[in-house]
Amino acid sequence: MAENRAPLVLILLGPPGAGKGTQARMLEEAFGLVQLSTGDLLRAAVAAGTDAGKQAQTVMQAGGLVSDDIVLAILKDRMADPDTSRGVILDGFPRTAGQAEALDVVLDSTGQRVNSVISMEVEDAPMIARVAGRYTCAACGEGYHDEFKQPAKAGVCDKCNGTDFKRRADDNAETAGARLTAYHAQTAPLITYYKGRGVLETVDAMADIASVADAMQTAVKRVMA
Ligand code: ADP
Ligand code: ADP
Ligand code: ZN
Repeated sequence: MAENRAPLVLILLGPPGAGKGTQARMLEEAFGLVQLSTGDLLRAAVAAGTDAGKQAQTVMQAGGLVSDDIVLAILKDRMADPDTSRGVILDGFPRTAGQAEALDVVLDSTGQRVNSVISMEVEDAPMIARVAGRYTCAACGEGYHDEFKQPAKAGVCDKCNGTDFKRRADDNAETAGARLTAYHAQTAPLITYYKGRGVLETVDAMADIASVADAMQTAVKRVMA
């Protein structure tokens, strides 16, 4: 990669359960990019009890979208960290047209742009089961699933040997339904927005995790070439 090249900005678009987090972590390892998950950043703000976290908590429990102002402030802060200099994978952001436009403004100010948007295409119904069976390693954040991605040794994280796991409060069938509705109403229109800008790639994300990873890496290699 040329020294003076602007950091790569990659967006993963897809409903809850599409596999954004799972694939973002695999892309981080493969390409040295940094995953920025607004969901993770918001959950950290809730846990820390900040003002933003307090405002976000109720909305997140109901499966709605947190206000653009809060999400943007949190994301901008994180994007200023030096570890993002090689490039970022935005996971769960932007989620509204307003956020997409605000992102353009932020990137413009630093000579960056959205290089690629990968739309992870899935059917709705199976996403409820994906979300309901999801859990993560408390120590390193590696994601697992009761049925679809179990650790090699039961109860022990493949990545860090941790034995403590956690589930998200909003990962239940009812809230997942509300989150899917929010996705279709407010986020899915971004597919057309980015298609019009010629940066959209689509990947069949109903396939197994390894096949999806192959397709994602092929798409990213094309952009990095
Ligand atoms: P998202 O970040 O888009 O909400 P995750 O990456 O957290 O989705 O995946 C949701 C759940 O589904 C996790 O438990 C994950 O292990 C599992 N999962 C991810 N991709 C697949 C896949 N292609 N097939 C089956 N299960 C998957
Ligand atoms: P998933 O991986 O299942 O799609 P996330 O972890 O990305 O879920 O998001 C969890 C919740 O955090 C969302 O339901 C929403 O309330 C909030 N959230 C995350 N990112 C955003 C965003 N960009 N804009 C507004 N709300 C967000
Ligand atoms: Zn772990």
